[in-house]
Amino acid sequence: MIDAYSPVAARAWDGFDQLDAVPADALLGLIGLYRSDDRPDKIDLGVGVFRNDDGATPVMRAVKSAEAHLLQDQSTKSYLGADGDSRFAELLAEVALGSDIARSPRLCGVQTPGGTGALRLGAELLQRAAPDATVWIGEPTWPNHGPIFLSAGLKVAGHRFYDVAAATIDFAAMMEDLEAAMPGDILLLHGCCHNPTGATLAPGQWATIAGFCEEKGIIPLIDLAYQGLGDGLDEDAAATRAMFAALPAALLAYSCDKNFGLYRDRVGALWVQSPRAGTAPLVRGNMFALARSLWSMPPDHGAALVRIILDSRDLRADWEAELSAMRLRINGLRETVAARQPSLAFIGRQRGMFAMLPMAPGEVAEMRARHGIYMAPNGRINIAGLTRENIPHFLASLGQVAP
Ligand code: PMP
Repeated sequence: MIDAYSPVAARAWDGFDQLDAVPADALLGLIGLYRSDDRPDKIDLGVGVFRNDDGATPVMRAVKSAEAHLLQDQSTKSYLGADGDSRFAELLAEVALGSDIARSPRLCGVQTPGGTGALRLGAELLQRAAPDATVWIGEPTWPNHGPIFLSAGLKVAGHRFYDVAAATIDFAAMMEDLEAAMPGDILLLHGCCHNPTGATLAPGQWATIAGFCEEKGIIPLIDLAYQGLGDGLDEDAAATRAMFAALPAALLAYSCDKNFGLYRDRVGALWVQSPRAGTAPLVRGNMFALARSLWSMPPDHGAALVRIILDSRDLRADWEAELSAMRLRINGLRETVAARQPSLAFIGRQRGMFAMLPMAPGEVAEMRARHGIYMAPNGRINIAGLTRENIPHFLASLGQVAP
């Protein structure tokens, strides 16, 4: 064993000492703090997972059934290949993009480890195709977006998107900032259920963005991580489909981790639409080569479950029914909060799991210390962490901390 006193350690390579210290992820740190808090009325609004009325994040019924099928029927765990479960990507393409776009020869898709893997693969592909491109990202956004594109060697620029104090999208400011984008730049867009704000672009605003992308030669990369948790499966995909229909080139990074409740199984896909069908095989080849060097093959279990569910009429209907119930729960909580607290009326108009409260970090810390209410440091709350029972405690605490 090499310990601090051994002569080997004394002359050891010191490369690791040159690393910059990285602060721990603030949101993940909250998990430990919440667990060790013994106040019975504590509320976890931090971590971004769906919760039911009992505060649990259960395995969905259709997923449990599909797991039983898999246990029964799977005869090998031999390698699948860099594209993973191709039937999964084929079936999911129709759910996400609708059958016309899904069947286009200009489209190619590949299974990825979660939405994060899809974003990273998309970033690597764009880095190969357009190494000088800048990725434009609205502020605020999911904190992992910037690091993913920077790690792939792309440049990142922020544009104004959401005015936290006014609780609305500042669309004029967004389009003003995007004037600085250059042809060939990438525009990252949340397809629905914006994380962390819950703010939704209106169809007319999406049309303006599509027109802008077409005119300026900007390529949209849409991040769709919450399909079905806003207004419905088709409704939540409408903007993505409209962008794919309107523009020659587009990318879609998709996550099944929320709408199938498969978080830790890491299920996602990346689709890339090329301007010409002839280019699609080139894109496909590069996607596979990149996937091979990133993770070789994506994890199979979760994608196999999604494939089994989407391939079975009964399981699919049950999945859709449970997803609808999850959506109704979130939207019901949104309505309740908005009706009880007029200053939070915006929460009733927004969609998805998240909302952002205009609170200073000190106020967020006070919510935790004085009232046992855990929120992300930027004021983001997970609506699904609320219940009919804990809403009064949440609103009363908020009234004391940030009246
Ligand atoms: N995009 C957004 C907007 C997200 O909120 C998340 C997850 N929090 C992801 C992508 C990544 O999803 P996954 O867990 O499937 O990697």
